[in-house]
Amino acid sequence: MSPESLARAVARDRRPAPAAERDARRFVNAWVEAEALDGRRVEAFVLILRTRGCYWADQKGCSMCGYARDTLGRSATAAELAEQMDRALARYRGEPYVKIYTSGSFLDDREVDPASREAIVRGFSGRARRLLFETLPEFATEGSVSPLARAFGGELEVALGLESTDPVVLARYVHKNAPPSEYLAAADRLRGLGVRAKAYLLLKPPYLAEVEAIDDVVRSVAEAAPHFDALSVNPVHIQGGTVVEWLFRRGRYRPPWLWSLVEVLRRAAPTRGAARLVSFPTAGGLARGPHNCGACDVRVLAAIEAASLDQRFEALDDLGCGCRTAWDAACRLEPLGVEA
Ligand code: SF4
Ligand SMILES: [Zn+2]
Repeated sequence: MSPESLARAVARDRRPAPAAERDARRFVNAWVEAEALDGRRVEAFVLILRTRGCYWADQKGCSMCGYARDTLGRSATAAELAEQMDRALARYRGEPYVKIYTSGSFLDDREVDPASREAIVRGFSGRARRLLFETLPEFATEGSVSPLARAFGGELEVALGLESTDPVVLARYVHKNAPPSEYLAAADRLRGLGVRAKAYLLLKPPYLAEVEAIDDVVRSVAEAAPHFDALSVNPVHIQGGTVVEWLFRRGRYRPPWLWSLVEVLRRAAPTRGAARLVSFPTAGGLARGPHNCGACDVRVLAAIEAASLDQRFEALDDLGCGCRTAWDAACRLEPLGVEA
């Protein structure tokens, strides 16, 4: 099967049937995680709202993204979104950093209508200092963002899933809907409106060798840094209903080594300029997430988290384990088509 037809077949299979009203009144998930704000460690409240999800996931979707499975299969009504928000606020304990995700774009009217967006943002106004949401670049306009900046009053941060600044990697391997130039232009637009811009960069899309994936993120950090306030490196983890899962099940994809992430952070840190460079891997140390040998994963993950929170990357130079030899061999031999 060609990568193109594989992507469309996977997209067809993963879409949920329209959800019952009861499910539409419940958000997907909420939790508290470590973050940094103005140079100090703080707690962040993370909320995943249940919406119709990303329109692009219906058409083709990105090769690593299985978030369509957490969506409604139809648009949520304003009343359903209000009830999700009431439930979320009942869990909120005044954490200074709030991150809102929708398994798609918060600024897409089909997911969250403009009045509901303002109500959601206003719900955290005066309590959170910084509020982040994620969107595709085409929805990040003055018309959609400025009312939210006014409704919130604090610091808005908009996250864009740029993934890579290489147009070929983005189109052919990640399967994004727009070229990198549109993400960079959206970031410039946002900052022109006085809003922080954050980029997610993807470590190891399918069809890239380990060493190519490292080089891709290192180059992307240098090229994206002038446009963003923060760059977050997301190593691929295997989500259900995705192209990477299809390849993983057939032994044709290994999630990135944690050593690759360490290498990315060490090499990219000097080129980040004024932007924060962070990584908080999902499923770190698990078979379906970025992992090393199993013996060193917890230690390496802790060092990556500490470096991300404190922006001090020197400690990553001193990490070691016997499995670095296997990683090194994988990096050298994989491009030659040889199993390490
Ligand atoms: S990664 Fe973003 S753009 Fe791609 S399918 Fe998922 S939600 Fe949509
Ligand atoms: Zn190890």
